[in-house]
Amino acid sequence: MGRFVLIVEKGVVARSRGKHAKRHHAFFVFSAFGQSRSRATETCLVNEDAQMARIEIVQSIDASIFDASNAEDLKKQIVHHFSEKGCPPTVEILSDTSVRIIFDTDTLEKAENNFHKASSLCSEGRFNAAKDLLQKAIKACPGFSEAHRLLGQVLFQQGEVDKGMDEVLEALLIDPKNMWALIMMGNILANGKNNVDAADKYYKKVLEYYPDNAIALNNVAGTLIRKKEYDSAIRYMKQALELDNSYTNSYYGIALAYYQKGDLDNAFKYASQGALKGTNRAEDPGVRQELLKLLLTTAKEIAKSTDYESKVFKFAHSLETKFGVTIKFERNDEQDTLAHLEFADFYHRKDHVVKYKKDGNYCHYILHELTHLEMMLSAQMNGKLQTIGFTQKNFDAFLQDYKRHFDEVKKKIGTVQAEQLAKHLFQGLSLQVMNAPLDLFVEQKIYEKAKFRPLQLTSLFAMESSNIDAVRQTANVSEFPQIIKDTNKLLNMLQSLLLRKLYGLDFVNQYKPSQNMMNRAIEFFKVFEDSQASFNAGDEYAVFEKIATTLGLIKYFTLSGVEKSEVKTESDKKQEQFNKIHNSATANPAITVMMSSYMVGAMEYFEELLPEDIEKIAFECALVGQNGINPAQKSGYKLNNVPGKDFSGYELLAYYYVSWAISHPEMLDKLQMPFADAYRMAKQILDSRRGEK
Ligand SMILES: [Zn+2]
Repeated sequence: MGRFVLIVEKGVVARSRGKHAKRHHAFFVFSAFGQSRSRATETCLVNEDAQMARIEIVQSIDASIFDASNAEDLKKQIVHHFSEKGCPPTVEILSDTSVRIIFDTDTLEKAENNFHKASSLCSEGRFNAAKDLLQKAIKACPGFSEAHRLLGQVLFQQGEVDKGMDEVLEALLIDPKNMWALIMMGNILANGKNNVDAADKYYKKVLEYYPDNAIALNNVAGTLIRKKEYDSAIRYMKQALELDNSYTNSYYGIALAYYQKGDLDNAFKYASQGALKGTNRAEDPGVRQELLKLLLTTAKEIAKSTDYESKVFKFAHSLETKFGVTIKFERNDEQDTLAHLEFADFYHRKDHVVKYKKDGNYCHYILHELTHLEMMLSAQMNGKLQTIGFTQKNFDAFLQDYKRHFDEVKKKIGTVQAEQLAKHLFQGLSLQVMNAPLDLFVEQKIYEKAKFRPLQLTSLFAMESSNIDAVRQTANVSEFPQIIKDTNKLLNMLQSLLLRKLYGLDFVNQYKPSQNMMNRAIEFFKVFEDSQASFNAGDEYAVFEKIATTLGLIKYFTLSGVEKSEVKTESDKKQEQFNKIHNSATANPAITVMMSSYMVGAMEYFEELLPEDIEKIAFECALVGQNGINPAQKSGYKLNNVPGKDFSGYELLAYYYVSWAISHPEMLDKLQMPFADAYRMAKQILDSRRGEK
């Protein structure tokens, strides 16, 4: 016997799917002989007959593989040889040199489909549905090794350790080199049976059969971690990364091993690399999530145990030396901002000042301001320093643009409140449009100093969560014009994109942007990234200008010569006028004495009242005060909450001050009324009167 003619007949599948399906199946036959696909195409003669769905393939094979004594025996051997996944072909011996083999491709394809569907169900955690499909696949093709293995894995996941092990053993009986089954056997022994040594034997087999397989290496390393043999585990997993540098499991394993060893720096390093380079895989659902958790935990622990304050001050000192400047730090835990920079030249001062409050990740905020300073000083050296700010003219333009909107708001909340709201929105918007692009540069520069990364990540992550919250909160406030809400969202998304770029943490979709807004955010981020390629100090201002222009907001900015960005509403202007009058009044000690006696009267009057009544008076005074109170007016002021009393200007001011001092002392400073001395005196007078009684 020197030559077989194999006549391969195809079933329904081939007929319905046309000639590609047939050819595909022909390859499959030749693969069984160990032929490469291209070689198979050259050597096979394909007679196609669409009606019959019949492919005739003539192929000579080494007859010695079938050492048969009779035809029946030969048939058995051929059936065995061509069985695919336990699905036997029908074999007919035609002559001494030819056989006909008919494959039931239909059943096989169905079983394979069921297996693939089951795999994806598993990655979604839908194990019961997966189990049904796998059992169907095994029923149709009892020798389907992978189906047995996956069924074993599902059973194990569901807590049926022994049944799971039986299925995996079945898979190995069918195919002793099934890599996934070997790994799974190891996993069941290590995790389900707590028999790490037995597991090791299976893993060693994997390494023996598949020495260049990252998954195999990683699983072996996993058992070593459980045995606390961290160094050799790390060695295997680094080997795995060399084979496949997108394998999240290895990054996670290495980071975890370092973390367990107490080497936080390396744990952070590998967790960060994994977050950036690792990919999500169906066979390891949840690993990426675990990796990111480990990354954040490690960052927080490093940030907590590191003396970042002295590192930050050291950095400040290096700037002083490099640029020949002095930097002063002022701690003020009462201030609104976490930290801000006062650039000496803009304040007509000799020193640069960083004001900060010691709160949360304050070292990062100081570092952030120092990096702004570094960029400004570099731009200055380059002759490209710019001031970006806004003036009253810019504010007026804003009010003009949103006149209709704020007119509506006025009807709802009143003129003064609407004006104040407009001012806050304008200031907030301007600061954000100004800062967001520059902050990208600042954080990118901080990232380049690797030792600050754990601090930076901890702080940016905390900020990200509060930004997402804030954007969600404002989404439904109708008093804010839509464009301001959109701009706020868009600019927050830029920082989110940076967090994704630097640390692989992707929250940008949590802002729930429209596709259009997403595209725009990506476009702006690209402007920033492109400018990095050939960056010259001062280029950051061009990026700001480009973004502000595209947003149509550049008219709200003045790009040079802004002394101090400050705007006033009409009521601010009145308040100023009011303060001017009263400030001159305090210069006169006679007025202080007079005020204090009015205040004593007010205090005695309030003693009879409930706190909420005093508060009502306080609010009413503020309302009257908004239109200005003329202290020189002898009479004619009235308060609904103090019925029947006619007030002079000074007396009303006394009631105003005292009612606030009692009901909202924390607000006294904001009232900017210069009567603290008079109030002290009034209290002394009252105390001494009581002493006499
Ligand atoms: Zn900033």
